[in-house]
Amino acid sequence: MVRALIQMYLNLLHKLGFVAICSLAIFAMVAHADGPSTPSANAERMEQRIQALSKFGANPEGGVSRVAFGNADIQGREYIKDLMRHAGLTVRIDTAGNIIGKREGIDPDLPVIIFGSHIDSVPGGGNYDGDLGVIGAIEVVQLLHENGIKTQHPLEVVSFTDEEGGLTGSRAMTTGLSPSALGVVSHSGMTIAEGIRVVGGDPDRLELALRSPDEFTAFIELHIEQGAFLHEAGIDIGVVEGIVGIRWWDVVIEGIANHAGTTPMNKRQDAMLTAAELTLAVNRVVTSLEGRQVATVGRIRAEPGAPNVIPGRVVMSLEIRDLDAGKMQQVFDAIMIEADSIAQARQTPIRFEEIDVASPPAPTDLRMRKIIAQSADDLGLSFRFMPSGAGHDAQDMTHVAPTGMIFVPSVAGISHSPKEFTSPEDMANGANVLLRTVLAIDRGAL
Ligand SMILES: [Zn+2]
Repeated sequence: MVRALIQMYLNLLHKLGFVAICSLAIFAMVAHADGPSTPSANAERMEQRIQALSKFGANPEGGVSRVAFGNADIQGREYIKDLMRHAGLTVRIDTAGNIIGKREGIDPDLPVIIFGSHIDSVPGGGNYDGDLGVIGAIEVVQLLHENGIKTQHPLEVVSFTDEEGGLTGSRAMTTGLSPSALGVVSHSGMTIAEGIRVVGGDPDRLELALRSPDEFTAFIELHIEQGAFLHEAGIDIGVVEGIVGIRWWDVVIEGIANHAGTTPMNKRQDAMLTAAELTLAVNRVVTSLEGRQVATVGRIRAEPGAPNVIPGRVVMSLEIRDLDAGKMQQVFDAIMIEADSIAQARQTPIRFEEIDVASPPAPTDLRMRKIIAQSADDLGLSFRFMPSGAGHDAQDMTHVAPTGMIFVPSVAGISHSPKEFTSPEDMANGANVLLRTVLAIDRGAL
């Protein structure tokens, strides 16, 4: 009896063991199927392409001055079009001059998954801002192409026109360009309208460049951080929570101009002293609140502006940035309260005139953040959720598509400078996260 029981027990153990081994084998097969089937970015190829692109508009300091619409930009655009074709994309230029490379999906009727960035630079710029996003997007499609991986959704790689001159291409694609924007003279010396024509667009038919939300499944932009947070913290990937909003004011302080030699110190209404106190108050207010909001007084002008005259009037700037419009207002309200009491104490009225350059905060899509974070995690990369303090094409794309943004470290946080640098490994990490994000969205993760 006891022996029979022991035998049954041993049989059961044996069966359980078999089941366990089977499950392990199935698990390994699944893991295996998921692992090698997602190819990895080629860091060497990406670096080589970044170097090749940097020849167009190379400046003596080792960066690029590839302003939109100039000869270097036109040459760089040709190089990008060639890379796109090499990756199996069908290339077109929309009427805003955006370069769009398309790859058909198994279901051509599904809305497009679009990703990319820009290749124009500021004068005296670096080799990674924007460029990484375009080279990385092409790398993703090249990997799909080489490995015969088909997606359900059509894919588009985009290189936006003139990002640095005011998000020209992405604005034309999403909310439209105003006639006044078209007349602005760009760094190339051409107006935006002339420039768009030079790169193959048609400023008279810009409405054709507009895309509607039902055309897109998602937009993703890979970009260098342009700040030092990731590099200093040793974190691989930034999952961008959004592009911060910006508000600007002219702050006008009215004092009384008077002789600097004959007016006693206790008889003065000195607008400059008020400006000095208010500048300190701005800093005190913004640092006393919880959060990552920033506020800056960046410009100041005293009138009449002579060493021997007490300033009768000061005009200074105030800028506030944050991801939350309510927080921006809260900071401003607190500054106003301080301003009131400073104005009263010094008998110098303070007036805030808001300048119409405000851009509202552009939060990324919550689901997109999760997908990007999961993609980074799957790859064993460390990541952090963070805002973007700089503007990007992605902020326009939030109007037409669930948008996500992937940051990789900028060494020492340097950007808009020839010293801009991101390692090949970090670039490849970014492309791998982008690839996984695109594939997850294609499988319906949104
Ligand atoms: Zn950029």
